[in-house]
Amino acid sequence: MTTYRPYISVVIPVHNEQENLEELYTRLTKTLDSLGKPYEIVLTNDGSTDRSSDLLKELHDRRPHQIRVIEFNGNFGQHMAIMAGFERVRGEIIITMDADLQNPPEEIPKLVAAMEAGHDVVNTHRESRQDSLWRLAVSKLHNKFRALMMPKLKMEDEGCMLRAYSRNIVDLMASTGETTTFIPALALNYASNPTEVGVAHAPRSAGTSNYNLYKLIRYNFDLVTGFSLFPLQVFTLIGMTISFLSFCFVVFLMLRRLIVGPEVEGVFTLFAIVFFLIGIVLLGLGVVGEYIGRIYQEVRKRPRFVVRRVLEQGEVPKAVPVMPTADTLPLHPNG
Ligand code: UDP
Ligand code: MG
Repeated sequence: MTTYRPYISVVIPVHNEQENLEELYTRLTKTLDSLGKPYEIVLTNDGSTDRSSDLLKELHDRRPHQIRVIEFNGNFGQHMAIMAGFERVRGEIIITMDADLQNPPEEIPKLVAAMEAGHDVVNTHRESRQDSLWRLAVSKLHNKFRALMMPKLKMEDEGCMLRAYSRNIVDLMASTGETTTFIPALALNYASNPTEVGVAHAPRSAGTSNYNLYKLIRYNFDLVTGFSLFPLQVFTLIGMTISFLSFCFVVFLMLRRLIVGPEVEGVFTLFAIVFFLIGIVLLGLGVVGEYIGRIYQEVRKRPRFVVRRVLEQGEVPKAVPVMPTADTLPLHPNG
């Protein structure tokens, strides 16, 4: 069996992208062909319910050595779809991108050039981002919070998935086994020489975004809880401050009792203060719950995704040692 050794691997998660796959194929293969280096495209079908699965098979049939398809058993999320690709890539430079053509494939040579200049991670920020106003507002707010909570995570725009990683960084990420993760942040944890470039951004080519406000909030919690203890620590600080203020308040009330005598005014003010504090306690409980939920997920040790089938050609899987058997041993010329 011939072994196809690509230099570039492009990993793409696909969830209900039937209208985009043909254009993705045309533009991506044109760009990669023009680079003149061996490449592969690894597409993970993340539980699509439209015709994406059939279309991906068709693409694999067109270029069986270059286009590999991983089919999940259900919807495990964008980052798990990318992780499944990372576990199987064969290239030296690994590029991630979305299937909806919001990241123009024509920007890939820029990323490859930055990798070849010696960087191990190439981050990107979207120049003139083309998304709905509410998405832009949520993103801006979140990028600000993230910079405050995770100052070490140096990236301008965490939402842009068109990025490049070296093979050793990808192998490290694939080995973590985490169920909830955020790939660009994980990569920065291991990077020794990262850089950032600006890339163009386009409106979604067709179909609708897979993220509503709720999903976006959950997704951002994955980033925060996965890479920072700040939300937990901030409650220690809030708790300390409130305890100190309460102590001062008690001293003040005691002094008033002694100096002014018994009084009942201010009951509703006290109610307001108590309700406010209960709100803070509930919020704190929720934050602790976010961490505990994720610890629970990890300790159950369930598979983080289930692969139904893989369409690929050209190499015996890494885990299987290639031993000559009676069937594969060449026949002796004399029989
Ligand atoms: N995606 C996925 N699984 C999901 C949600 C999204 O594989 O559960 C893929 C989707 O097909 C696309 C990429 O992740 O290739 C980004 O999704 P989308 O464009 O919907 O997100 P947005 O650009 O609105 O943030
Ligand atoms: Mg998109």
